[in-house]
Amino acid sequence: MKDITIGLTASRKQLVRRMPNPATILPGSLLSRMVHCNKPGCRHCEKGKGKGHGPIWILSVSLGNRRVRQIPIPREMKKEVGESLLAFAQAQKLLKQIAGVNLESLKERKRRR
Ligand SMILES: [Zn+2]
Repeated sequence: MKDITIGLTASRKQLVRRMPNPATILPGSLLSRMVHCNKPGCRHCEKGKGKGHGPIWILSVSLGNRRVRQIPIPREMKKEVGESLLAFAQAQKLLKQIAGVNLESLKERKRRR
């Protein structure tokens, strides 16, 4: 019985250690999009043929109530933003796992009291 608790504590310790720095997290997801400039004669934007310019990167953030905010991300910030989105996803995943371990731990403590 004691072994279960020790195991749970150990796996929780590992999960906590993998937690990213919360100071870096960002919500949302990155989308890419091609843009058309409407300049006459632009070979990138030729009607029906041209692919347009880009891609440009957009951070899409849900505000609730089906509202979404779209924030253009400069090319040089794309890597940093991508890492911050990953950190958020990772933190959420780890929090769920830690909560799960704590739930097991709680059940075990009740059983042994
Ligand atoms: Zn163009």
